[in-house]
Amino acid sequence: MIASATASPYARVRMDFEQKRKMGIGAAAPRSAGEGGSSESERLVSAGRVDDDDAVELKLRPKRLAEFIGQTKAKEQLAIALEAAKSRGEALDHVLLFGPPGLGKTTLATIIANELGVGFQQTSGPALQVQGDMAAILTNLKARQVLFLDEIHRLQPVMEEKLYTALEDYQLDIMIGTGPSARTHVMRIDPFTFVAATTRPGLLSSPLRSRFGILLRLEFYTDDELRWVVERSAEVLGVPIDRDGAAEIAVRSRGTPRIANRLLRRVRDYAEVRAEGKIDRPTAMAALEMLEVDAHGFDELDRRLLRTIIEKYDGGPVGLNTLAAALAEEQDALEEVYEPFLIQIGFLDRTPRGRVATRLAYEHLGIEMPRKPTLFG
Ligand code: ADP
Repeated sequence: MIASATASPYARVRMDFEQKRKMGIGAAAPRSAGEGGSSESERLVSAGRVDDDDAVELKLRPKRLAEFIGQTKAKEQLAIALEAAKSRGEALDHVLLFGPPGLGKTTLATIIANELGVGFQQTSGPALQVQGDMAAILTNLKARQVLFLDEIHRLQPVMEEKLYTALEDYQLDIMIGTGPSARTHVMRIDPFTFVAATTRPGLLSSPLRSRFGILLRLEFYTDDELRWVVERSAEVLGVPIDRDGAAEIAVRSRGTPRIANRLLRRVRDYAEVRAEGKIDRPTAMAALEMLEVDAHGFDELDRRLLRTIIEKYDGGPVGLNTLAAALAEEQDALEEVYEPFLIQIGFLDRTPRGRVATRLAYEHLGIEMPRKPTLFG
């Protein structure tokens, strides 16, 4: 999606990040705080990257596969493929990572490079606007290196076509000149490993999907796995935390390590001021209550979303665009960031006719569910 003057603050924050990345400021460049004042960019339990996440994430990111918590299936599949590629001395097959934001796609891409002992280059679908940029990146790759492309579903179709020959035959067709004197020049590229990530695998064309030999789906983390994530991050940051304190943060992190790490940092601030820096369950609970993150990790926006479906649309079904307009949020943001977790924990249903609030949502909000009229009244 391309940002326009009318793009939502959410889209603007993303673009701001992409532009910085493209300008070579790098993935670690912090975003300007509070940009746009959007609900998404300021949302504490957003699974997307916000404000100061980038700098801290770099520090907290596991570097080897053994440090990567959870995702047993994906990890096992990857470990076997890595072992095989290493023993053959070849580049690893191209990898597609998919799943909701904040679950570790970028982390796994860097781990792949670390495990293979090769270089890592990162770009993203929206950042690649000019064919020359793609040619420059591809021709500068060293043999067996990892090229990571985030948000591949936002890649322009012309770029996608250029990628095909690069991925399959390790060559790139470049047009030199224009008009009748234009010629095609074929450039060789060293065999490399392409790792792409997307939150929306359904938007990829089938020719593009077929270029990937390894497809890894990332799932939401269990509460136990997230507790390990919190404990590990607390250790890296040097924050004293006990098991119950970590568990309390974990259950409110929406199955997402990025949120767990962010909540840990906020709870740490609270603990430093009110509890001599140590995080136990009462401290975590008090801090999270103050931050208005409830027992499911819902914040005001989730509650507003569910309440809108229930109160304005009789519990649904309501179409995505209507819902987005009613909430003054971007459709993309709703679909990619807010909904997956609500669906996963059974508060929301995605039906062909639209979104429906479930019994659990009514119960959570303390609203009585109207009885559906039956054939017999
Ligand atoms: P994505 O690319 O899917 O949006 P990231 O890879 O950027 O997500 O992960 C966000 C943060 O969450 C990382 O900086 C890392 O600290 C943490 N994280 C993600 N997955 C794990 C994991 N399995 N174990 C520990 N930390 C993780």
